[in-house]
Amino acid sequence: MSAEELPPRESMEFDVVIVGAGPSGLSAAIRLKQLNADLNVVVVEKGSEVGAHILSGAVIDPVGLDKLIPDWREDADCPLKTQVKDDRFFWTTATSAIRLPNFMMPPLMDNHHCYIGSLGDVCRWLAPKAEALGVEIYPGFAAAEVLYDDNGAVRGIATGDMGIARDGSHKDSYTRGMELLGKYTLFAEGARGSLSKQLIAKYSLDAKSEPSKFGIGLKEVWEIDPAKHQKGLIQHSFGWPLNNSTGGGSFLYHYDDNKVAVGFVVHLNYDDPYLSPFDEFQRFKTHPAIRTVFEGGKRISYGARAITEGGYQSVPRLSFPGGALIGCAAGFVNVPRIKGVHNAMGSGMLAAEHVAAALGAGRAGDELVEYENAWRDSTVGKDLHRVRNVKPLWSKFGTIIGVALGGFDMWCNTLGFSLFGTQSHAKPDRKTLDAAKTHTPIAYPKPDGKLSFDKLSSVFLSNTNHEEDQPVHLKVADMNLQKTSEHDVYAGPSNRYCPAGVYEWVEEAAGPRFQINAQNCVHCKTCDVKDPNGNITWVPPEGGGGPNYQGM
Ligand SMILES: Cc1cc2nc3c(=O)[nH]c(=O)nc-3n(C[C@H](O)[C@H](O)[C@H](O)COP(=O)(O)OP(=O)(O)OC[C@H]3O[C@@H](n4cnc5c(N)ncnc54)[C@H](O)[C@@H]3O)c2cc1C
Ligand code: SF4
Repeated sequence: MSAEELPPRESMEFDVVIVGAGPSGLSAAIRLKQLNADLNVVVVEKGSEVGAHILSGAVIDPVGLDKLIPDWREDADCPLKTQVKDDRFFWTTATSAIRLPNFMMPPLMDNHHCYIGSLGDVCRWLAPKAEALGVEIYPGFAAAEVLYDDNGAVRGIATGDMGIARDGSHKDSYTRGMELLGKYTLFAEGARGSLSKQLIAKYSLDAKSEPSKFGIGLKEVWEIDPAKHQKGLIQHSFGWPLNNSTGGGSFLYHYDDNKVAVGFVVHLNYDDPYLSPFDEFQRFKTHPAIRTVFEGGKRISYGARAITEGGYQSVPRLSFPGGALIGCAAGFVNVPRIKGVHNAMGSGMLAAEHVAAALGAGRAGDELVEYENAWRDSTVGKDLHRVRNVKPLWSKFGTIIGVALGGFDMWCNTLGFSLFGTQSHAKPDRKTLDAAKTHTPIAYPKPDGKLSFDKLSSVFLSNTNHEEDQPVHLKVADMNLQKTSEHDVYAGPSNRYCPAGVYEWVEEAAGPRFQINAQNCVHCKTCDVKDPNGNITWVPPEGGGGPNYQGM
């Protein structure tokens, strides 16, 4: 059936359509209803339930939550139960972990007022609060298309059609997507949002900003031996197993009943095509100072997600006719703190306030320039401005000197000045890979099945599930380029940067074949960022597919 022959889509009209039920989308929805209970607000979420696709550390700065739900601490159902008690930073070599004294850290790095927990569970707790205020939430529906009016303004989104077979034919279960039309549409898709990326290109929202930057964050949740659990202890490290020219580091958070969240972030501007972030993470857990925490424990979940790292100078223009970007769709992570939840919530509330004011003034479908003009002077802008040079200095000077300079610059910014101005990020992450011939393949240790694991048993713990008979949602624009460049020049880095074993080069008599095991995809979006030619585009699969994270 051609596009012209497709049955028409049904449509529903709202005041505000929100794409994504993460902290930014839910905060925007709740704030809109707090400001005006009569507004019609809808949220679509591609996960099978709210929280199913959420992955974060998470040590959460409560500054956002305090504004949204001031009495959250008195709510017995709130999943944030563990306040940070002990906050440690380490520099790791292969055999030792050297603790950096806390007094060296600028005050903004202090975490003692923060709470440890699962962001997915926080979203699961926020969603019914939004619904109680009258917000409609539709999990299991991916926003697959932006809808524009005749003047080029966003007028809403369409959810994806369901029941399309892998070959494009329509199955008996075929159902047309829905059009959700809004006076304003807020895009809260998180890091590397698929529609947000299209909007950034269409309206040249990044014309005056630095390239966006990302890391890949891998995370596991463990239940550990109660005797080793130190509720409220958080640790961050940098150094081994990464070399000095590869940015990244670990986090390890003790919370709730014997739970430990352990994760590893690798900056996606790494240059070695043989590097495997997944295997670096597995290796990290075998460090003598780390392995003892997990020995005798049980790994209960695994996942991965891109994290935005461009910060202040990479934030694109946030507003365009008919809508705006909020949260990590724009990129509000404070990189040295590895914290974006408070700013996702802050930007969601800020946008909501400007949307409510515009609707109150009888406006619709125009550009929310007031939101764009307001964010830099808001708490979100101020939070990012102070740390704006940490990532570019790290990238430019390597870990040892770059982190020290970044720390120095954060101290200066705390005192109100900077010797570095605003540093540039130079190039996008996909352009930083070297040709494979300039590097040697890395022999990673085999997983022992106790502390370190392989990808497939890990993906199993993410409860990832996709309808198998559907079009592949990883779109390779030019398969020949994939062979001549990704395979021949870069030795197939997709096999290593993908944390879920989706990509494989199968060597056959007729030549290498690029195999895409799309059903394993955990929606981290790394391929969309790191393919050296920008040749892979992630699009939403059928709604409800993907990971089913619990407690991430
Ligand atoms: C490994 C890691 C560790 C982190 N640790 C911390 C930490 O300790 N503290 C902290 O504050 N921050 C941390 N962050 C950052 C923090 O998680 C993000 O800043 C925050 O989640 C951003 O919120 P968001 O609402 O913008 O996006 P997200 O949390 O990514 O939520 C986006 C939602 O939109 C949905 N969605 C996306 N596209 C569509 C679509 N087209 N249709 C329908 N639904 C869609 C997604 O399924 C998801 O539910 C970490 C991030 C990572 C990756
Ligand atoms: S296919 Fe892409 S989005 Fe999916 S898990 Fe692999 S790198 Fe992440």
